[in-house]
Amino acid sequence: MDSIARHILDLSRRGLLRGGLGMAALAALQPAGARHALAQPPRFERDPFTLGVASGDPWPEGVVLWTRLAPEPLAGGGMPRQAVPVRWQLSEEPEMRRVVREGEALAYPEFGHAVHVELEGLRPGRFYWYRFQAGEALSPIGRTRTAPAPGAAPAGLRFVNAGCQHYEHGHFTAWRHIAGEGELDFVFHYGDFIYEYGPRGGQPRRHNSPEVYTLDDYRNRYALYRMDPELMAAQAAHPFLHSFDDHEVDNDWAGPFSEEDGSRPDRPAVPPELFALRKQAAFQAWYEHMPLRRAQLPRGPEIQAWRGFRFGGLLEVSVLDTRSGRTDQPCGGATAAPCEGWADPAARMMDPAQEAWLMERLRPGRARWQVLAHQVPILKRDFGAPGAPRYSMDKWDGYPAARERLLRHVEESGLRDLIAVSGDVHAAWAGTLHREGGGAALGTEFTATSISSGGDGSETMANTPKVMAQNPHLGFFNNRRGYTLHEVAADRFLATYRAVAEVSHPGAAREDRGAFVVEPGRPGLKAV
Ligand code: FE
Ligand code: CA
Repeated sequence: MDSIARHILDLSRRGLLRGGLGMAALAALQPAGARHALAQPPRFERDPFTLGVASGDPWPEGVVLWTRLAPEPLAGGGMPRQAVPVRWQLSEEPEMRRVVREGEALAYPEFGHAVHVELEGLRPGRFYWYRFQAGEALSPIGRTRTAPAPGAAPAGLRFVNAGCQHYEHGHFTAWRHIAGEGELDFVFHYGDFIYEYGPRGGQPRRHNSPEVYTLDDYRNRYALYRMDPELMAAQAAHPFLHSFDDHEVDNDWAGPFSEEDGSRPDRPAVPPELFALRKQAAFQAWYEHMPLRRAQLPRGPEIQAWRGFRFGGLLEVSVLDTRSGRTDQPCGGATAAPCEGWADPAARMMDPAQEAWLMERLRPGRARWQVLAHQVPILKRDFGAPGAPRYSMDKWDGYPAARERLLRHVEESGLRDLIAVSGDVHAAWAGTLHREGGGAALGTEFTATSISSGGDGSETMANTPKVMAQNPHLGFFNNRRGYTLHEVAADRFLATYRAVAEVSHPGAAREDRGAFVVEPGRPGLKAV
């Protein structure tokens, strides 16, 4: 762990910094009359910054700063029912002795007293440090980073792909190691930031409520997760690109359909118009708890979470939403043999507008590497026997026509530097993307394992040799918890699978389980 990350982790553990030089400096910097006349800051009996700070969606000239005031984080937040002014400050050095930008935002009760500061006019490709003040309370200091200038040719970029952090299944040790990864350009969080379930018992940790349905339920669940000091340290150390997968709303949801879409004999179907109310609550809570731009503000049960990023000429990142515009899983969500409707040509993983936007981006010449940052693996994984395939049907494997549309486009466009990064399956996989029936290698996919979901795991599983043998395009599997570090240069795209041997107890060391290089124009894995 480098000194900055240790500093940030230390700050987040200490929580509130009261009094001292920092307070004096802040008071002196407040312009007279800047306070909103109708909104006076309360005097806090307890630390309102229990959920830490975060930043996200870096552009060359700006980034989003985030916090949420919650002195009673597990009980609705505990804030007075009024808008509360929150000061923010930005500095170019970690001790924040010289403030280069500052301002005031209002934390609204309509918004769970979350604060999103969308900064503009910053310098590209550099680190900034930030903090918030509400009343006399000061937040921990966070570090963020703007993207390189659009015309820049950065020598290297480093980013992490991580997600699936079931609180009950284990400790967030991997987040502490991510906090200590040194200088990252961003962390892509593919989703499953929370799990919606009630407590199940007999696990290392325990959820705070039954399954979440209402806005207050979701807020309290996000608070439980965000109070974890290791997650808090990672969020304060790096800018994040957040997407959601299923558990931010409901297991295996697809478009207007909940998990209870009528396909389960043990549960009544939930009408889509009722599920829309749950999505509205879930998306509002997701937005409230993530460093997102105004463009991602949900409108009722709808949200535009897909969006693009550029890191000079080296990397373009397309963050996908493969839940909102999906057609329902034709064969359910489990691992199963293809059913009637499996190959339906009308099957979609994305709504048509998103698919058209993505196709436009997946072309050669826009950037050295095109990264598809998304949720469930595109890679085909046949778990069956020869001649009797079985697929995990909530993944692209359950939507072969949609996958074929995507990969046919890649083949026809001539793009050969496509890297997909995904997760969701609670194990590490890597392999080469091909059209249905084989043919040329069209891209490479690195699927990150989970932060904690699934518990300690194992190095392999009983069926691993069989699965690898009948899926020759797959080159790597590991079932430990962890994340993937990507180090990108013009002449290579490197993936290192970081792991921890256990999450049932805190403090496991960081260990590597595999490292692979992709060379420009040559999709596929080369072991390092
Ligand atoms: Fe998950
Ligand atoms: Ca998931």
